[in-house]
Amino acid sequence: MNQLTKSNGYSKPMTSIVMPVYRESGNLISVIEDIHERLAESGMRFEMVLVDDGSPDDSWDVISEQAARFPMLRAARLSRNFGKEAALVAGLEMARGDIVIVMDADGQHPPSLLPEMIKTWQGGDVDIVEAVKASRGKETLFSKFTAWMFYLLWNKLSGFELRGASDYKLLNRRAVNAYLQMQERNVFFRGMTAWLGFRRAQIPFEVAERSGGSSGWSIFRLIRLAITGITAFSALPLQLVTFVGFVFLIFSVIFGIYTLALQLYGLSVSGFATVILLILVTGSLLMISLGIIGVYLERIYEEIKFRPRYVISQSTEAAISVRHEPEKALAATAGDIR
Ligand code: UDP
Ligand code: MG
Repeated sequence: MNQLTKSNGYSKPMTSIVMPVYRESGNLISVIEDIHERLAESGMRFEMVLVDDGSPDDSWDVISEQAARFPMLRAARLSRNFGKEAALVAGLEMARGDIVIVMDADGQHPPSLLPEMIKTWQGGDVDIVEAVKASRGKETLFSKFTAWMFYLLWNKLSGFELRGASDYKLLNRRAVNAYLQMQERNVFFRGMTAWLGFRRAQIPFEVAERSGGSSGWSIFRLIRLAITGITAFSALPLQLVTFVGFVFLIFSVIFGIYTLALQLYGLSVSGFATVILLILVTGSLLMISLGIIGVYLERIYEEIKFRPRYVISQSTEAAISVRHEPEKALAATAGDIR
């Protein structure tokens, strides 16, 4: 692993650009060229680490071609679509740079910001430089609203501020290593880097339009990411169940006394509607509570299996074959490619 730091003077620090790629064959070449141009201009030593997240299109062919063209391009192909967060972990584990910049491969994270991010890191005593969305770019009202709702909820539950946060970030080696120490299977890059702390600087940017293709996120996957994000950072929903239980207990004491009193005075207990309502309300609350517990159980189950977070099927480094070299493949998934 590269132990260079920005202070030793005799060797320039190296920058790694990490990009998860899913169905981006149409955008890749221009994005790679753009990044290459910006960094070559700045005279930095750099590498690009591309992780093909099991794209069904010809993204991997494009990456391989570009790897032949640009020697500083390194890439790995995951054995299937593991999701952006897992692909990011793969990329961070491959990266050798003293600083690592994570960005999207669809052109929405403008490479023009790269020199400024690097300069901010060089100039100030910061470990993480975050590009924050000045506005959310062109999005539907629905997507704006759901993002707003999620961040509000996430902020209240986890205690970390995420509004405007993007996955466009610069991390120094210390921050990357700390991130990779977090061994959970359900990764949420934005939240976990917030959890890490460290000294941070922020740079606002305008989200560009996708240079082509379409977003790889379906509503269902976004909901899953939101649930992962919340359950991984807060157990409050579980405590909420207890809280509602207590509120119900107070009600039941009052109702109990009332019903007993009516019985004692020989009055017939009226209120059939109340009974039905109570059954319906408690029934639904019980179901929801069980559901919440189920979600956390699922998380525990997923974590306890301790599966690798991704599996690499191909790489530009050395031929990694799962069948013939199991130790090597295992090392690759455990993050020892460096
Ligand atoms: N991506 C990925 N795996 C996926 C979905 C997306 O690696 O399953 C990558 C995608 O190629 C892009 C980044 O994650 O580089 C952001 O994806 P996208 O543009 O679809 O998300 P959005 O910009 O809508 O948040
Ligand atoms: Mg995008």
